[in-house]
Amino acid sequence: MAHGDPLPPHVLIFPLPLQGPVNNMFKLAELLCLAGVNITFLVTDHIHRRLSRYANIHSRFRRYPGFKIATIADGLPADHPRDGNQFIEIFDSLKSPETKAVLRDVLCGDGGKQGPLTCVIADGILGFAFDVANDVGIPVISTRTVSPACLWIFFCLPKLIQSQEIPFPGNDLDELIKNVPGTETFLRRRDLPGFCRSGDISDPNVKLYETEGQINSRARGLILNTFEELDGSILSQIRTLCPNLYPIGPLHAHLKTKLLAGETAATASPPASSSLWQEDRSCIGWLDNQPLRSVIYVSFGSIATLTKEQLMEFWYGLVNSGQKFLWVIRRDSVAGKDWKSQAPTELTQGTQERGYIVGWAPQEEVLAHLAVGGFLTHNGWNSTLESVYEGVPMICWPYFLDQQVNSRFVEAVYRLGLDMKDTCDRVTIERIVRELMEMRKDEFLQEAKKMGELAKRSILEGGSSYTSFERLVSDIKTWSSRSLRCDN
Ligand code: UDP
Repeated sequence: MAHGDPLPPHVLIFPLPLQGPVNNMFKLAELLCLAGVNITFLVTDHIHRRLSRYANIHSRFRRYPGFKIATIADGLPADHPRDGNQFIEIFDSLKSPETKAVLRDVLCGDGGKQGPLTCVIADGILGFAFDVANDVGIPVISTRTVSPACLWIFFCLPKLIQSQEIPFPGNDLDELIKNVPGTETFLRRRDLPGFCRSGDISDPNVKLYETEGQINSRARGLILNTFEELDGSILSQIRTLCPNLYPIGPLHAHLKTKLLAGETAATASPPASSSLWQEDRSCIGWLDNQPLRSVIYVSFGSIATLTKEQLMEFWYGLVNSGQKFLWVIRRDSVAGKDWKSQAPTELTQGTQERGYIVGWAPQEEVLAHLAVGGFLTHNGWNSTLESVYEGVPMICWPYFLDQQVNSRFVEAVYRLGLDMKDTCDRVTIERIVRELMEMRKDEFLQEAKKMGELAKRSILEGGSSYTSFERLVSDIKTWSSRSLRCDN
């Protein structure tokens, strides 16, 4: 940069301290670094410790002189497990006055060689970060890592409560929902985020998400990890409340494509791994030896846990289906540690013949592998998009939150798979695996391939997500040059 040139914009990215959102926001951070934006990436001490242990983030971002990581205490005791199941506790602790004060100091600091902060991109649920940024006069852009469909339901929560659609009267989970515009013909009570079933509108989750619409209205725009061709109908609904949307997904592929097209050798390498567990790459070697589209990949993400009974039902269902399977079973995901040693012989034998089990997989690479023909997934939004992008049809077994919505969209809107929510028995699992991998294999693979191609086009020059990202960078630059900051 020549002497006297204005500093590039300096953006603070503040993700939710959970694997999915952190993963996602690193990708956004790297995309912005490539576009010449300076980044401070704010994570909790806990996330920072885990990243340092398992991920190559520090070495990855060394190539971007404008990138740095800052940390903030989450206020929880050292022995708190901090997994997604305690999300409300993490969230409540994070929004304490102490955190706000630290955040304010970060925003008002001189920013070192990156220059003063000129814009904040924060998870749309971290309303307190929006307040602090607005207080000190720094423009804020919201981002959400849940699916747009689920976000739309959050935005509609006040209306659902007012119209008494939630809490539900009676037990019929198949009743259609009337007050989520655009979904009236297919969205059932069972497809709402699980907390809507609690029968209690004072449920902390309801309280947390019912203000999302208001929080987002305090931002200058909303970044979403999707693409117009997949979620156009829902995006047009969201635009009625947040007119300035930036659908820039699928983020993981958007970044990969930009890196491959990178002008310098330094950037033309695969994106950083921000994995919080050790990846077992031996499964790629196993996949290399399997026939084309013959393997069902099974993973329930980083948060979902299984009871021992559920694990056994899945195991029997998979083995009895006769299909080949690659299964991720996280060490902390099964209630009861002795599941392996107590497994009946027919399961261990079936697994030896046709299966492979790992503790954590390089998922994007697995889904891109030609041996994979289906994905039995919990439908976390990242997993769903990664599957869509690679043209892999899905069997959906959602665990919580947006996954219950996503699974319905996969089956009824995107038409890329089968939703088996609220069931978990070996007979159903065997039947549904056979349906996806044998009986309707060609039909699903064809549809998935079409959507995968649209996803790929959306991130190429001129594509919908590519263009949205260009607009995001240009808006950040414009707002940064105008912002009035920390003058109080
Ligand atoms: N993932 C992975 N290896 C695994 C399982 C998952 O790398 O064995 C990654 C996956 O690619 C995705 C993320 O972990 O990017 C999980 O995010 P998602 O939103 O799907 O679900 P969550 O973990 O938040 O429930």
